[in-house]
Amino acid sequence: MRWPGSRTGCLRCRACFDRRRAASEQTLTPRTYAKPLTNLIDELSKLPGIGGKSAQRLAFHILSMEDGDARAIAEAILRAKEEMKYCSLCGNLTDTDPCGICSDEGRDRSMICVVENPRDVAAIERLKEFHGLYHVLHGAISPMDGIGPGDINLKQLILRLQGNDDVKEVILATNPNIEGEATAMYTARLIKPSGITVSRIAHGVPVGGDLEYTDEVTLSKAMEGRRIL
Ligand SMILES: [Zn+2]
Repeated sequence: MRWPGSRTGCLRCRACFDRRRAASEQTLTPRTYAKPLTNLIDELSKLPGIGGKSAQRLAFHILSMEDGDARAIAEAILRAKEEMKYCSLCGNLTDTDPCGICSDEGRDRSMICVVENPRDVAAIERLKEFHGLYHVLHGAISPMDGIGPGDINLKQLILRLQGNDDVKEVILATNPNIEGEATAMYTARLIKPSGITVSRIAHGVPVGGDLEYTDEVTLSKAMEGRRIL
């Protein structure tokens, strides 16, 4: 959306913001640099959260590094791309298939924790409190963005549960936002007829938080999720 007569676009909408940013980044990447450096800046600026200025700063830093250190970065990127894959059972990122968690005989096979992405698995694993298995959806249902149940790794979860008598509980640990809630509701409806217990992680007031400054939705969720002491 543009204001009438405006050449730079409005100050609010995302499309105009992106256009302005792209224009400013072009001026930040002068073509006076030699081609190899321009290429490096262009490639680095494709990374999320890295604009033209940051890409230039990183490129100059890489050029000032020891040859071995710069080579190690390049090789680490290539190696990760070549060796990392998705576990055919749970969808987690791994260098072996099945992944270390799925193939660990010591894990509790009666519980599957469903999360949106591999970073969530790492976050829960850091707690060292959950010893069950995982299932990574690689996203959440979001009709606004055109992402339906068929676009995430949900069918594989249902197939995994069919004919598997070991699983007694599925814990839905999708994010506590609109998309995560919609995904949890939809998944619960699919699983419940099988008789498997479906639970949802609690939401509420953060530890160290203050009730007075907690927003209404969070406080209402905290009241809903109360437990008997
Ligand atoms: Zn796995």
